[in-house]
Amino acid sequence: MELLSHVIATYHEVALKGGNRGFFERTLLRNVRTALKGLPVAEVSLPARVVVRFSQPVAWNDVRLRLSTVFGLNGLIPVTLVGTIYADLERWVEEHADQLAGTSFAVRCKRSDKRFPMTSMEVDRTLGSRINVLTGMRVDLTSPDVELHVLLQNDGIYVYRHRVPGPGGLPVGTSGRVLVLLSGGIDSPVAAYLAMKRGTKAHYVHFHSAPYTSDASVRKVEEIARILNRHQGPSRLFVVPFGDCQREIVALAPEKLRVVLYRRAMLRVAERIARRTRCQAIVTGESLNQVASQTLENMAAIDRVAHLPVLRPVVGFDKQEIIALAERIGTYELSILPHQDCCSFLQPQHPATRTTHRACEAAEAALDVDGWARRLQHEAETRAILPLPWADAPSAPVPEPVTCPVS
Ligand code: ATP
Ligand code: MG
Repeated sequence: MELLSHVIATYHEVALKGGNRGFFERTLLRNVRTALKGLPVAEVSLPARVVVRFSQPVAWNDVRLRLSTVFGLNGLIPVTLVGTIYADLERWVEEHADQLAGTSFAVRCKRSDKRFPMTSMEVDRTLGSRINVLTGMRVDLTSPDVELHVLLQNDGIYVYRHRVPGPGGLPVGTSGRVLVLLSGGIDSPVAAYLAMKRGTKAHYVHFHSAPYTSDASVRKVEEIARILNRHQGPSRLFVVPFGDCQREIVALAPEKLRVVLYRRAMLRVAERIARRTRCQAIVTGESLNQVASQTLENMAAIDRVAHLPVLRPVVGFDKQEIIALAERIGTYELSILPHQDCCSFLQPQHPATRTTHRACEAAEAALDVDGWARRLQHEAETRAILPLPWADAPSAPVPEPVTCPVS
């Protein structure tokens, strides 16, 4: 197990922000501190890169997992602080020469402390000859067996051998707030992840058809939200009982319009919740043409009931890409557990692929759509969702059998 006392994380897009850079950096630092809560962090500072100092050695794997959830970080580097002057660097190399095994090597120095008395090229060369004498390895700058990176920073000289990519994006909390329609399927958790990756904080809304179906989807969505919240900390899940509204749509509207009418009804409720919770946009997991309800025509008919922007972060992804991302995020295993989705409840045989707003409006004349939106908003149950603790492996809820057969 690799132990370390310091880790450095690099950021890229945050550094490109002009006048707002301070705000982005402060948010990033706060998110790093939150992600590392529970570990013995002594100091988190920011001289061009995020430098974390621990008061006692911690497992690199633990730190890597946690920092991989902090959007805005581009590279994660397990480093060793060797001292402040060149002699410290040479001494470290002498003490660790036996760990530099191979036939060729390269020293790659970066000097961000411009007061350091040697240039990075001088460090490369001087340290390179020392390593050559100590180990007998030859210098190979193109494909060496061993790479030794040296960072000359204002706060000291660091060395490292390897780095891993961070999650990229922008720090959560820098781009406003969104409400994610979270279904328990594969796509919407990925959409939530991508919205957070662009710096938004997310609340969630889930529609279920209990007691006509089981409430397994609710527990599943809650579990998924806990995994997602590792990226952003606590947020809220609004759980909306949607079954009676669906039954009215089934009873009073044309069968082939059902799915689009369900979505429009969901969006009306979501928008009310979004306004109440100061969310500035709605996020869905729709991808273009993936299923009948996701044609451009149907999306247009759905969006006509919205006043807030409807963001669809996975719109251009195919299913395999979405699945690959879901696996990486850790939501896939939960998403594929069987549950009865409210949209498979009372699903039409042949859903329309080319609905128009006008056709939907005509169908909705028989329904009290605003009344439903108002009622469901009030009936929505609010749940506080804490991030899944780091000690826990992602736990899967046990799916329950359907309690009432679907007619
Ligand atoms: P997902 O895998 O996210 O369920 P999907 O490919 O199954 O998506 P649909 O079932 O048509 O597609 O749903 C499209 C989007 O509508 C979902 O991604 C989600 O954002 C939203 N949605 C669908 N059902 C629900 C639900 N029961 N509660 C909340 N949002 C939902
Ligand atoms: Mg679905």
